[in-house]
This record gives sequence, structure tokens and C-alpha cells, in this order.
Amino acid sequence: MDITSLQSQFRGEILTPGSAGYDESRKIWNAMIDRRPSAIARCTGPEDVQAAVRFALDHDIYPAIRGGGHNVAGLAMVDDGLVIDLTPMKNIVVDPSNRTATAQTGLTWGEFDRETQQHGLATTGGLISTTGIAGLTLGGGVGWLMSRCGLVCDNTLSYDIVLATGDSIQATADDHADLFWALKGGGGNFGVVTSITYRMYPITTVISGMVLHPLAEARKVLEFYRDFVTSGLPDELTVYAASLSTPDGHPVIAFIPCWCGDDLAQGERVLDPLRKFGSPIADLINTMPYSAMQQMIDPGAPFGLRSYWKSRFLRELPDTAIDTFVQFAETRTSPRSFAILEHAHGAVSRVQPNATAFPTRSDGFDLVLISLWDNAEEDPRHIEWTRTFHSAMQPWSAGSVYVNSLDQDDAARVPEAYAQNYARLSAVKATYDPGNRFRRNQNIQPHTKASEK
Ligand SMILES: Cc1cc2nc3c(=O)[nH]c(=O)nc-3n(C[C@H](O)[C@H](O)[C@H](O)COP(=O)(O)OP(=O)(O)OC[C@H]3O[C@@H](n4cnc5c(N)ncnc54)[C@H](O)[C@@H]3O)c2cc1C
Repeated sequence: MDITSLQSQFRGEILTPGSAGYDESRKIWNAMIDRRPSAIARCTGPEDVQAAVRFALDHDIYPAIRGGGHNVAGLAMVDDGLVIDLTPMKNIVVDPSNRTATAQTGLTWGEFDRETQQHGLATTGGLISTTGIAGLTLGGGVGWLMSRCGLVCDNTLSYDIVLATGDSIQATADDHADLFWALKGGGGNFGVVTSITYRMYPITTVISGMVLHPLAEARKVLEFYRDFVTSGLPDELTVYAASLSTPDGHPVIAFIPCWCGDDLAQGERVLDPLRKFGSPIADLINTMPYSAMQQMIDPGAPFGLRSYWKSRFLRELPDTAIDTFVQFAETRTSPRSFAILEHAHGAVSRVQPNATAFPTRSDGFDLVLISLWDNAEEDPRHIEWTRTFHSAMQPWSAGSVYVNSLDQDDAARVPEAYAQNYARLSAVKATYDPGNRFRRNQNIQPHTKASEK
């Protein structure tokens, strides 16, 4: 790829094999992905993004887009192609009086929280502070505040986006409303988003932490979890359950709650039964700053491990499903791996399935299996464990999956992720990216009624 013409239009660095910093810039979260792009264009702002997209158009290149680099399928990197790298773009403007934040898409959630918490504001964000705001928001975005505030995409007010033509537009509820709808969950399919405006909430203190039980008690613990979260929890409380390891390698089953309501005394009362249940090994629940909770589980998912995921939404969690979950938790192949049950209710489920591109809105559980390990020789057995576990949970499937949990071998599941919204997304794709320039993603095929003929 001859990048001379791009260099003359570009303010940021363009890294090629052999440049200082090239190898660092092509590293992403999942160490199984080891791709060597021809060029990594490190954009300093929307004008650089426009130059890179126009270069891709002129040279018939299908670029990859890199935000936080967390996508497990490695969508941010490409072999022998162009990467539009947004990581230098970290401007953020917080408007405390209107409770909004406008953030460039190179920010991570940790960086976003750092600025917004200065003003006492938060919005639903990812569980790990090093995840990029962009990829997570564009896929829909689940997080601790979702039962009170909705998904991340339920709180987006505008998107600045560079389209496949290189033109830059803003999509809001009033302008390019079809695109605005599609960007609320439709991923990186429609262009390169350069900044996003979020609705913010006055939240600075939460009650969170973990209650750890021995894995031997997992059946009873998960039965209690199911009954507790389906008993009509207040919107301010979200509770996950997970099988994981303590830092010294002991397998445990954990409740991980987050109370984000203003009334902390009420939070203590609501959490009381969860903390009193059974005989926990440790109760680490505490009142803490919101930003501390947002970094609480970072050590469990560091950059640079090998990883393979499988996921599906479950419509229910009967005892037989719990038995299956426990059987696989007991036979996990890596002490670093975890299996999470993420219960959603409240604000998430009051949004109609077709109101945004993200369709899965009923109360229920997202099962996320995250295998993590160090050595490449071990790949087959950890992948096999994850796949077998996932298949065994199929009988309780709600028939849908979160697009941001899809791995490299899941491309065929994209229609499953969008369910009844897929056809409308295909039509929006045909309007804004008919040539599928942006195809290095969980791809939505451009499709119009005319193309059926
Ligand atoms: C440890 C870990 C924890 C996670 N926790 C959560 C969680 O709590 N909640 C949740 O919802 N998800 C979570 N995820 C999943 C996460 O949402 C996806 O991995 C998401 O793709 C990460 O976004 P990124 O910007 O870091 O990714 P990248 O790998 O940089 O980007 C992934 C893809 O997103 C698209 N994209 C990124 N930026 C742009 C842009 N500016 N314009 C257009 N397209 C773009 C592109 O298609 C790109 O290939 C987690 C992932 C990991 C690895």
C-alpha cells in the first residue's frame, strides 16, 4: 500500500511495519489476534479520519477501525490493510447544567469516568475501565447502571460520523433519524464515529463489591441468585453472579451487586438478604466511589492474555440450567476463565425492542463465557470447554446474543443479534454504506428491496 497521498493530508502519525511504535500499536486486548496491518493511521481528529476514509475509498481498501481494542474477535486489526486508529482522539466536554458529555471516540471508560466524575456525573458504561467507549457504545452497551439508566445506547443524544464517502455528518433524533436509530446498537457498520454525546446522571457513590461462596455451594447460591433478582428488584440495583477464581486461584461463586440509588440506607436494606445468605467465604460489599467500582474487576481481565468467548441470552434459569452451569464451572480448564450471569431489568426492559437497533429488552440473563489463558499450546482445550459449555446451555436460550460478545467464529450469528431489527438495519446500511466499505465488523449486509429483484 502506497500511503504517500494519505501522508500529505494527515496530521497524525502513520505507522508502517518497521516504524517505532508499530508493534505496540497493533497489540489489542486478545493476544490470540496477531495481525500486521500495512498502515496504522493514528488520527488526531475528525479531519484525519476523513482523510483516511477518502484514501480507503480512492484505493478500494476496506479499513479496520480501532477504538479501545477490546473486541474479542479482533475486529480492530487487519492483516495487510489500513487501520483507522482513534486512540489519540481523547477530547471530552462535560456540560454539568444540561447533564451531558460529548466525548471523542479514542477514550476508554476509565478516562471518560475521570472527567465526568469531576462534575459528579456518570452514565451507564463498561465494567472494565480499559474498554473503549466507542465499540462498547456502538454495540449497545451493558453495565452496572443499566437497570436505573438504561443501556449505554439508550443515553446517546448525538453521533458525529464520517461516512464511506468521507463526508462528516451528525446523527440525532431529528437529523438522519434512521442512522441515529441504527447507531444505537448497530456497531461500526455505518461509518467512523468521531464523537458521541451522552446523557449523564448525578451518581458518585455506589454500594458494590463481591460476596464470595465456595464453588461446592454453587447450586444453592445460584438458586438464591435467580430467586433474588427475579423477585422485583428496584431499578437502582443490578446484580450479576459469576464463577471465577480468587487471586490465589481458588474457584468460587460470587454475587456482584451494584446499588446506584441516592438513598444508600435503602441500598443497604435491599442488599441485606444477599449478604446474609449461606456462609460466604468473604463479604467485600462496601460503599465506594463510582469510579472505584468501575475499576474493581480490571485485574481479572488484563490486556495480553489469550481469550475465547461464547455468549447467549437466557430466557429463564431453572434448576436444570443451574446444574449444567455448575457442572461446567467445576470442570473449567483455566483458573483465569469466568462464566457470568448478567441479570437485566428496569430501564433496559422498558424500551421497546424496535425503538433502538438493540432488540433484546425483556427481563432476563445474559450468559457470558470468557475463557482466558496464557499459552498458545493450550488453545484447543480452553476453546473446546467454552464451546461445549455454551452448547449445553442451549435449551434455555432466548434465541438472541449481544453483538459485542461475538467471537471470530460467530459471524453467522449477526442476524441472531439483531433479530427483528436486522432488515431495517440492512436498509440503513444500504443508504449510508451501500458498497459495504465498513465490513471489518460484525457485518450487516446492505440490502434494499430493489436488490432483491
Ligand atoms: C475485558 C472486557 C470487558 C468488557 N465489558 C463489557 C461491558 O461491561 N459491557 C459491554 O457492553 N461490553 C463489554 N465488553 C465488550 C465490548 O463492548 C466490545 O469488546 C467492544 O467492541 C469494545 O470496544 P472497543 O472500542 O474497546 O473495541 P475495538 O476492538 O477498538 O473496536 C471494536 C469494533 O467496534 C467498532 N468501532 C470501534 N470504534 C468505532 C468508531 N469510532 N466508529 C465506528 N466503529 C467503531 C469497529 O467495528 C471495531 O472493529 C467487554 C470486552 C472486554 C474485552
